[in-house]
Amino acid sequence: MKTKIAREFHWEMGHRLQHHKGLCRNIHGHSYRLWVEIEGEPDEHGMVMDYGDMKRIVTPVLGELDHCFLCSDSDTRMKEFFTDGDFKVVYVPFETTAENIAAYLLDKLWVKFSGMSRIESIRLQVHETQNTYAQVEKTRA
Ligand SMILES: [Zn+2]
Repeated sequence: MKTKIAREFHWEMGHRLQHHKGLCRNIHGHSYRLWVEIEGEPDEHGMVMDYGDMKRIVTPVLGELDHCFLCSDSDTRMKEFFTDGDFKVVYVPFETTAENIAAYLLDKLWVKFSGMSRIESIRLQVHETQNTYAQVEKTRA
């Protein structure tokens, strides 16, 4: 029977949305929460995958982002600011909305999870605040 399992992860990150008309254009941060949902047929031992393996795959990807400033390549003001400092900055070719962060993480995680033939689809939810999230999903072709 097709079964879905899920695990929640956390990381801290700063960003800004340079084109936002309101408060989000300011430099600020979030305690991000990521829900990773994996769907597939359980194996003969009754598992879609081990939650520990899930953690071993996802944690390094989020570790790259933890306590960084996620900076859009097009944000020249922030790039200039970070030129001289000893800061953890990750540059990405997109505006750092929750939607785009979710898609970015899905690309990275799909590469790792799709090697496991049991896994049929992955869904990610990136929760930026207590009451908002962006969701993306990919299913094996
Ligand atoms: Zn924000």
